[in-house]
Amino acid sequence: MLLSLSPSGSKLRAMTVLARPARPAKPMTRERVRGFLAALASTNPEPESDLDFGTPFTLLVAVVLSAQTTDAAVNKATPALFAVAPDPAAMAALGAEGIGPYIRSIGLWQGKARNVAELARLLVERHGGVVPSEREALEALPGVGRKTANVVLNVAFGQATMAVDTHVFRLGNRTGIAPGKDVRVVEDGLVRRIPREILGRSHHWLILHGRYVCKARAPECWRCVAAEWCNFPDKTPAPAVKPPRKAAEPGRAGRVRAVSQTRSSIPMADPSAIAEHMEIVGSDGLHVGTVDHVDGQRIKLTKTDPEAGGEHHFLHLDCVEKVEEGKVVLNRLAAQAQDEWGVEQVG
Ligand code: SF4
Repeated sequence: MLLSLSPSGSKLRAMTVLARPARPAKPMTRERVRGFLAALASTNPEPESDLDFGTPFTLLVAVVLSAQTTDAAVNKATPALFAVAPDPAAMAALGAEGIGPYIRSIGLWQGKARNVAELARLLVERHGGVVPSEREALEALPGVGRKTANVVLNVAFGQATMAVDTHVFRLGNRTGIAPGKDVRVVEDGLVRRIPREILGRSHHWLILHGRYVCKARAPECWRCVAAEWCNFPDKTPAPAVKPPRKAAEPGRAGRVRAVSQTRSSIPMADPSAIAEHMEIVGSDGLHVGTVDHVDGQRIKLTKTDPEAGGEHHFLHLDCVEKVEEGKVVLNRLAAQAQDEWGVEQVG
């Protein structure tokens, strides 16, 4: 069952829509796995992490900070942090209170500041200030779970591990490359089926493909280079070409298209609670973008998805459900505006 918005009328109204359950993909054969990954490799042979780091320690910290936020948000915060605390000893000396101001723009920053300070202290105390290359030692550090350990082991130490994040888990099941009910089953399936020599790069190929093409809400199968190898049974057709928009009147370029037909029924968010660089997530918890600034009753947001055809968009404040834990959470009105791009690109 899905909740949808009334397409017309002045009130926001929930409607019940019977959604066809997603059909499971058949597991790929090993030949199809190889073809699928080769297709992804053809567009990006040497993929790299979107996170900026220079050493195993800064990689570890960046991955810990990236939990439930975007790599772009982490990359904005870490240069200044790593300039003053490039190694475990300096980070431990900085402490949680010293780390906090550098990462306030990142979701859950208080807990992350405590974890980073403590993991730095433990690296000094237990490992002589060196990031260990053993899973058990890594997972004993605060804020480091199996996924983070897998990233560090793979990227920093070249070990045959596969970190399963939300994108990799979705692709594992949707495409049939490694179906599984939980992340561990998907991880084990990927490690078993992907040749060891390309396991590291496959991690990046899958994440990037999930982030930019095989998206959570609607996979863009019509432009997917790996479509012929993918077992997803309900591939998305190319969208109908929309007629060109009417030219904007002089002086009106870049204005927000009105979403006022529903505005009266939505409580307005307090603009003072919304800060620059905050992450914006949809009502489904998925990343939408980051706050550029609040302009009157509108938020200018930066989309980090380069495939969207533009960077800056406006949303009216009545698209905001709440602000919590450093994130702006959008409501269902925003989901409609997003689907239709009921906002105009700026500039
Ligand atoms: S975008 Fe479509 S065709 Fe490509 S991997 Fe995802 S589900 Fe398969």
